Amino acid sequence: MSRYSSEEYDVIIIGAGIGGLVCGCYLAKAGMKVLICEQHNKPGGYCTSFKRKGFTFDAAPHCFGSYREGGVMRKILKELEVDKKLTIIRPDPSDIIITPDYKIPFWNDLERTINEFQKIFPKERNIRKFFYLLLDTNPKSFSKMRNLTFGELLDEYFTDEKLKAILSLPFFGIGGLPSFLMSAFVGAKLFSEFLLDGGYYPKGGMQTLSDALAERFKEFGGELLLSSRVKKIKVKDNIVKGVILENNTFLPSKYVISNCDARQTFLKLIGKEKLTTEFYNKLNNMIPSNSNFIIYLGVDASFKPLYNPGSFIYYFSSYSIQKIYQSIQTGDIEKYNVFLLRVAHDKSTIYAGIPVTYKNKNYWKKNKYKFLETCIEKIKWCTSQDLLKHIVYKDAATPITLHKYTYNYKGASFGWAGITSQFSVPDFRKPSFIQNLFLTGHWTTLGVGISGTAYVGYDTAKILLRKEKPKETK
Ligand SMILES: Cc1cc2nc3c(=O)[nH]c(=O)nc-3n(C[C@H](O)[C@H](O)[C@H](O)COP(=O)(O)OP(=O)(O)OC[C@H]3O[C@@H](n4cnc5c(N)ncnc54)[C@H](O)[C@@H]3O)c2cc1C
Repeated sequence: MSRYSSEEYDVIIIGAGIGGLVCGCYLAKAGMKVLICEQHNKPGGYCTSFKRKGFTFDAAPHCFGSYREGGVMRKILKELEVDKKLTIIRPDPSDIIITPDYKIPFWNDLERTINEFQKIFPKERNIRKFFYLLLDTNPKSFSKMRNLTFGELLDEYFTDEKLKAILSLPFFGIGGLPSFLMSAFVGAKLFSEFLLDGGYYPKGGMQTLSDALAERFKEFGGELLLSSRVKKIKVKDNIVKGVILENNTFLPSKYVISNCDARQTFLKLIGKEKLTTEFYNKLNNMIPSNSNFIIYLGVDASFKPLYNPGSFIYYFSSYSIQKIYQSIQTGDIEKYNVFLLRVAHDKSTIYAGIPVTYKNKNYWKKNKYKFLETCIEKIKWCTSQDLLKHIVYKDAATPITLHKYTYNYKGASFGWAGITSQFSVPDFRKPSFIQNLFLTGHWTTLGVGISGTAYVGYDTAKILLRKEKPKETK
């Protein structure tokens, strides 16, 4: 129960996404009085699951990365002792890329994966070097990539156009971007977090990760208010004073951290009139990442998938990066040749996602069920030829659905688009013109999903704690 009093909080966090939850845990653990206000009736943001007709579906993300020894996600879950509440599993292979000519598995053993690539592309000399570069955490290796696109990076290492296409194809699924637009830095991060050290899954569904973080937050003394939308961040003389909920309750606090979309934070919760023109223009010119059209299928017990349950399949019927990108831009799903999908570890459900641009409500209302049927026909090729016979439940989510449940601008999957021109996301973490306001989550970094968002949550807490010096550390 929230104290919900006129007593001032040290910190109010708006949003219980992974960013808000991780940030909240570190602050509450350090002894601060922290409240998280979440508009949805469950914690997790995109990282939630839901039940229909006895099936449990992951709403959006299906796994996380960076859980190797020394990986950032492992460090965070261990430090917070959230790992003790979860059983993390990882399929082997974690991922499989399927193209017209090849099926390339990404094994948990990196050397085995490198051998798979080397067998197919024997003339290429830099395969091992390239994969180890992507995993290198030395900032010097990454700083070289600052001004390059991922496509340019591939050109430096390889000559075979098919290999370059294969290494670029997963980005359509992950960030909705082709390698000729994707920043090399972001691409390298995504590739290592999703493919080389990815596929980690909390047994029971993605909601268990968010629930475990929320539970830990409360054990540290934090308060979580669900079904509580914040409608305004109160600011006086350029200093934050607290938040106002939809029911007009004012909750005072010294700091406010927004885990929600940067546009909502600045344009609605703060108000355009409080922004400098320069900042407003910068915000307006930022480009969001693509959204997703998601298919949820519940299947009967006799369903036999073609590929290893739990492994993530990147299925492409073309190598043409340009054509795939065009079909995403036009939104013509009938012509789509890219699918990402996973048969659940227990084979009871199938999740398939395809990158799409936002469009409008009417467009999705008109096309949702037509696209659902088209996609089911197409994913037969990578799930099972007799898939139709086994479906007992089917539904889909559109960018409108993703926006409805999280308020992410245009249903963007990964915050801002990971393009080179947006490489350094300006001022969004700690805007200089309003004191004691911070932002956290995927709108303050570029395209790195759950592990990157968790890191930003951790880092935001550290920045605030350095400023504040906690009263006590638990
Ligand atoms: C289809 C899809 C597939 C994905 N797949 C993967 C994957 O497999 N692996 C991976 O690592 N990443 C994946 N991602 C990306 C990943 O899910 C996100 O980057 C990450 O979860 C973002 O977390 P966040 O905390 O920044 O924001 P969010 O999850 O968006 O959380 C923000 C929270 O703020 C709340 N909120 C918003 N406005 C208000 C308000 N006014 N008042 C109160 N609360 C508010 C929202 O309800 C929400 O709970 C995927 C994303 C999508 C959409």
